[in-house]
Amino acid sequence: MTDALYPAYLFDRDALAQLAAFVDGQTLLAFDLDGTLAPIVPDPATIGIPADIQKAFIALAARAPVAVITGRSRYDALSHLPATPRYLIGNHGAEGLPGWDLRENQFVRFAQSWQNQLSELMGPEYPEGVEIENKGATLSIHYRRAVNIPAAHDIILQAMDRLTPKPVRISGKFIENLIPKGAPDKGAALGILMEKEKFKKALFAGDDDTDERVFRLERNTIFSIRVGEAADSRAAFYLHGQHEVAKLLRTVKAILEKS
Ligand SMILES: [Mg+2]
Repeated sequence: MTDALYPAYLFDRDALAQLAAFVDGQTLLAFDLDGTLAPIVPDPATIGIPADIQKAFIALAARAPVAVITGRSRYDALSHLPATPRYLIGNHGAEGLPGWDLRENQFVRFAQSWQNQLSELMGPEYPEGVEIENKGATLSIHYRRAVNIPAAHDIILQAMDRLTPKPVRISGKFIENLIPKGAPDKGAALGILMEKEKFKKALFAGDDDTDERVFRLERNTIFSIRVGEAADSRAAFYLHGQHEVAKLLRTVKAILEKS
């Protein structure tokens, strides 16, 4: 694939032909969860995968190697997925990679230590409305419900600055994610998964900045799809929005049935 014409709308004829030429039974099919398999909702605890996507996901996971790569913990993600995919990578890439158990244990110890340090730095009550979610290998600080959001965010950032070891920071909407240094991001995680499990090709669909780590990977081996058009995306293809993901899953399954 050349760079010249990208990003291209996936359901245009030429792009569909490229999808059909790329995907076969040995292609790893990887998806982000929030904003991709499930629409974004104001409170992430209440996401739900629409019925048509559930149906298509179950059908696809039954016949092809499917991976879900999410910022959520695996445990959390499993409670939302309609079927267990062959690979479930959680914590932005830090959880569930084959062969990473020892390092993952270390990530868990860092996250626990940060949680302890944060309660000392911010006080055991935290600013009102601030919640810390220990996701195992990473930590998320939620301030959506803070009484004074800017003030709470300031306190959080100041506390984060004093943590040892220093976490890698991934900011989201009313959330600060603390990732251990050396933990794979989504791009690294997909690369490791492909290498360990001997996939020469992967399709990946995701909707936000953390997914761009995947979109920056080698285009000849990754068929990258950004859910929602973004001018600065490095993905080769895009969908108009999350509402087209069910069609994507059905299209991929139809391609597999023909090949
Ligand atoms: Mg997402």
